[in-house]
Amino acid sequence: MEYLPQLMRRGGKNFSVEFFPPRDDLGEQNLWSTIRYLESRRPGFVSVTYGAGGTNRDRTVRVTERIAKETSLTPVAHLTAVGQTREELEDIMARYAAAYVHNVLVVRGDPKGVAAGQEGTWEPTPGGINSANELLALAKEKHRFCVGVAAFPDKHPRFETHAEDDAHFATKVRAGADFGVSQMLFSADSFVRMRDRYAQQGLDIPVLPGIMPITSWAGLQRMLQLSGQPAPADVMARFEKYRDDCKATGELGVELALKIARDLIVNGVEWLHFFPNNRASTLFILLDELGYYPFTRQAQYRIG
Ligand SMILES: Cc1cc2nc3c(=O)[nH]c(=O)nc-3n(C[C@H](O)[C@H](O)[C@H](O)COP(=O)(O)OP(=O)(O)OC[C@H]3O[C@@H](n4cnc5c(N)ncnc54)[C@H](O)[C@@H]3O)c2cc1C
Repeated sequence: MEYLPQLMRRGGKNFSVEFFPPRDDLGEQNLWSTIRYLESRRPGFVSVTYGAGGTNRDRTVRVTERIAKETSLTPVAHLTAVGQTREELEDIMARYAAAYVHNVLVVRGDPKGVAAGQEGTWEPTPGGINSANELLALAKEKHRFCVGVAAFPDKHPRFETHAEDDAHFATKVRAGADFGVSQMLFSADSFVRMRDRYAQQGLDIPVLPGIMPITSWAGLQRMLQLSGQPAPADVMARFEKYRDDCKATGELGVELALKIARDLIVNGVEWLHFFPNNRASTLFILLDELGYYPFTRQAQYRIG
């Protein structure tokens, strides 16, 4: 199996998919249908987030272990520092290592019910750790995981300027991060600008752009609330117009995701990271429209 960042650096069209931990058994069953369906498209990797505020973490761990043991997919396990001691985090890392999960994505996380960027709300756990960089150090020290970190093309709401956000990202690169994955994008421009700034500053790790096909008004609201990130007014106006029309919202979501993806590809960003809300149907429409098929993990073909 190839080291993920090496595969990312190789270039050419590829994609990865981020799932969230299901809330109940039915959700878990449905997620497994999606995972099985997705195997045929051979994504570069699939990741499973750690529930916001540390919720549903058992399902995150279980689903990630099963992906590693029972499928042909490469899993990336998200980890956050919310509500856990160092020992608990070490135990989870040991479970991942035992299941041959080699890749993790570390983020600090936010306390339950708190949107990203509300500074002063972080609640340290006694015996716990307090930043993505500390998690990164633990992941490297104990198991030499390949470690991904979060990147924020529209800057994290806690920072006033892109320069501050870039300087913070630089600390993650210096701490040994192997790759980055971006926050959900509303346009390709902010990602391309961030990529170019990082290149100028010698921050030489691959960073993947996050694309979420919006399928409902409520889903969009939830995402904005969690990220603490405002959406551009024109995008909000377009989606608000169809807020009670699921079909029209879905079509608009596909249109926006395709525009972002195509603009990225034109700018040489060909590995796309999708947040498809645990469903395969919209993702498959996007992949077909973009001609992202087929790929293999170990030997990647250049198409087009
Ligand atoms: C791709 C992606 C995936 C995500 N996945 C999840 C997920 O699975 N689960 C979830 O709950 N959330 C997830 N998030 C959201 C994330 O938890 C929030 O955005 C959170 O607010 C910030 O996390 P961080 O890793 O950027 O924090 P950090 O980089 O740790 O920064 C947090 C704070 O600590 C400060 N800080 C950090 N290191 C230092 C230092 N050395 N010295 C001084 N100050 C320091 C920073 O200035 C900042 O104020 C994800 C975000 C992205 C973009």
